[in-house]
Amino acid sequence: MRRTLWVLAALVGATRAQRAQAQESLAPLRVVDPTYMDTTAKACTDFFQYSVGAWLARDTIPPDYSYSGVGRDMEDRNELVVRSVLDDAASHRTTAAAGSTGRKLGTFYATCMDSTAAEQSGISPLQPALDSIAAARTSADLLRLIAANQERGARGLFSYYPNPDLHDAGRYMAFLGQDGLGMPDRDYYTDSGHEADSLRRAYVKHVTNTLTLAGETPAAAAVDAEHIMALETSLAKASLTRVALRDPKATDHPTSLAALRTTAPAIDWTSYFRTIGLESAPARVNLAEPAFFKEASRLLGMTPQSTWKAYLRYHLVSSGERWLSTPFVNEDFTYTSLFTGAKQLLPRWKRCLRATDGEIGEALGKAYVDKTFPPEAKARAKEIIDDVRAAFGERLRRLTWMSDTTRQKALSKLAQMHEKVGYPDVWRDYSKLEVAEGPFVLNVFRANQFEWQRVVRRPGTAVDTTEWGMTVPTVNAYYDGSKNEMVFPAGALEPQTFDPKADNGANFGSLAGSWAGHELTHGFDDEGRHFDAKGNLTDWWTASDNTKFTTQADMVVQQFNSYVQVDTLHVNGKLTEGENIADYGGVLTGYDALERALQQHGRPGLIDGFTPEQRFFLGFAQSWRSNTRPEEMRTRVTTDPHAPEHWRVNGPLSNDPLFAQAFGCKPGDPMVRDPASVPHIW
Ligand SMILES: [Zn+2]
Repeated sequence: MRRTLWVLAALVGATRAQRAQAQESLAPLRVVDPTYMDTTAKACTDFFQYSVGAWLARDTIPPDYSYSGVGRDMEDRNELVVRSVLDDAASHRTTAAAGSTGRKLGTFYATCMDSTAAEQSGISPLQPALDSIAAARTSADLLRLIAANQERGARGLFSYYPNPDLHDAGRYMAFLGQDGLGMPDRDYYTDSGHEADSLRRAYVKHVTNTLTLAGETPAAAAVDAEHIMALETSLAKASLTRVALRDPKATDHPTSLAALRTTAPAIDWTSYFRTIGLESAPARVNLAEPAFFKEASRLLGMTPQSTWKAYLRYHLVSSGERWLSTPFVNEDFTYTSLFTGAKQLLPRWKRCLRATDGEIGEALGKAYVDKTFPPEAKARAKEIIDDVRAAFGERLRRLTWMSDTTRQKALSKLAQMHEKVGYPDVWRDYSKLEVAEGPFVLNVFRANQFEWQRVVRRPGTAVDTTEWGMTVPTVNAYYDGSKNEMVFPAGALEPQTFDPKADNGANFGSLAGSWAGHELTHGFDDEGRHFDAKGNLTDWWTASDNTKFTTQADMVVQQFNSYVQVDTLHVNGKLTEGENIADYGGVLTGYDALERALQQHGRPGLIDGFTPEQRFFLGFAQSWRSNTRPEEMRTRVTTDPHAPEHWRVNGPLSNDPLFAQAFGCKPGDPMVRDPASVPHIW
């Protein structure tokens, strides 16, 4: 890919071809970029403003986005690479071998790009499924339709998913979980106030409009929508909150088939498991939220079948709405933009690219890696990640509050933590995936059914340790407690996060501090610390260490509860607890790793006027460069376990004396919190 320093604003008078070419060559990103900094701001007053204030002042969020900043900038660059892979696959799809993954990939993307076909077919691709819902008569019919929705990726009352057994992490177990809501969180159904009322009215209107587009009369659709809202409100009230779900013990309920029948008698479980593809019902399942299933069963028994049919109809159409004709697409966008603030749709190629990556992403991952992620980049990133592991081990050894008993187990968990860097060693086998010419929405359903079939019979079998939970071009990373592993996709190991050519100060601030140190400490946060080295849910902490950890973690909760984000909306300290502990631990550990690297490889002089330590903190802060629409920010404060970026920077740094030292901050400065309220965890 060619990279030049084009400025898009200068291209207003350019021809269409010139503009297209310019967009193909986005300016390279730097891990630390001094042009983002507001040098009129004071580092010790508001470090986020100091680090990225100049960028914030000149940034405009594009109308088709709800945010801009690092995430979007990196995605834009990754998407150009993925687009070239997909254009290539699409143009060769008729000559590629029948049944080959390349042909399936090209066909998937090409049928998505075919807007004419979508316009012409209207609701007709979904008509056979809508007809089966209309034909339902008995409760057995209803259960089959619930399962059919689940397999297609549409909501269907609850969810079924095989996960590692919480007490035997090497084997999969069947999990049954709360689900089935059309709004983004159960709190939207229960919150009071003008804002919540208005979103609920908007949802009922959206359900009405969608059902009308799907063929109901507006009057019938309006009645159905009210009934669906009432049904979902009952489900929402019986659902655990996101904060409650953070405690892994709250969803640990191994349940025999007999007990499952007692808890949720209105569901014929033997028939359900057979319908979804299991040869026999599992002897035990993890019933994650028993109270929810009790209520779901009660509702199945007492709610008229016409309401359930309307519910399944709406969720079927809703799951494919954005891939149908323009009236459907616009209806879907009008509703979802209430939660994002976006003013217009993304260009079709971006929507199709994201759908392809989301549904069958491992089919394009290898080509993406070949174009972007050379072995040297992988080796350098791995070196930094391993430096962070070593630095965290030293911190664990030094911790004064932790007993030796817990310390030994923590060190053992750290030593056994797996890491995946860049891309999978084993790529997914798509030979059983079906992709056809014709309406794209059916290819989405086929991809979901393929995925369902791939995993549905897993309970009782050995856990696949080679599997990835994110696709390769993804700008993100994760820690999985049940596998005790951290995973860094190649898409996140690019500038601005990381540049093999950048200095250690910048790379360690961003990759080690914001990413690797962060993911690693998730293994020991309020959630991850309940899992042992093998991924089993076990209490391996002594009671006194447990108390000491909780006391310090509660101080993190208090700290973030005090931050106000939008209008009077506060950050939810409890919801964001684990991520805030990870951010704080990431900074401390990343800094240690930098100091080790400087001792080993020598200190460079000033770069752009900054010491390596200052560049570390700038790299950390700039990695959270972000500008977000208020609608999106409101949604995030309700649903996102990460604090808003401003606080992800100023929160941990104002606790860290090494930050104060690097920038000469004094007691009393806003970036130096009172030592009495500073938590000490790692
Ligand atoms: Zn995290």
